Amino acid sequence: MTAVPERCPSCGNVGTRVAPITLKALLTGDALKTGIPDAPRFCATTDCPIVYFDGAARMTLTESDVTVRVHAKHPDDDSVPVCYCFDYTPARIEEENAQLGSSAARAMITREVQAGHCACEVRNPKGSCCLGDIARVEARLKQFEQVER
Ligand SMILES: [Zn+2]
Repeated sequence: MTAVPERCPSCGNVGTRVAPITLKALLTGDALKTGIPDAPRFCATTDCPIVYFDGAARMTLTESDVTVRVHAKHPDDDSVPVCYCFDYTPARIEEENAQLGSSAARAMITREVQAGHCACEVRNPKGSCCLGDIARVEARLKQFEQVER
């Protein structure tokens, strides 16, 4: 199989396009020195070490090249942010669930996104809205609560 540029060279899954500004905002100094490619893609595969790649530019970057921990690579780690704009980790959602019966995360983030207050393209390593990830974290935590009972 010949590698097509939109597929991650490590896991083979199709990466999502991210804007170069996302890499400019989130790469370490050393990674910035290697240059920002024109058409970077984000690999969301959990067990794949590649965070960004650009097939045409023959560039790959791993989590050690990024200044934040990447939720997609640690979806079950409660200390890794899931909403990078408004500082939500799974642990904070769990805490709100315990204290308030349910987390305010989704309603609050939705409200702020609608108001145009989010900064996903420069804060979230996947370069896009976290609401899908929030829903997945909430579903996982709910499942976990049911197992505990
Ligand atoms: Zn990959």
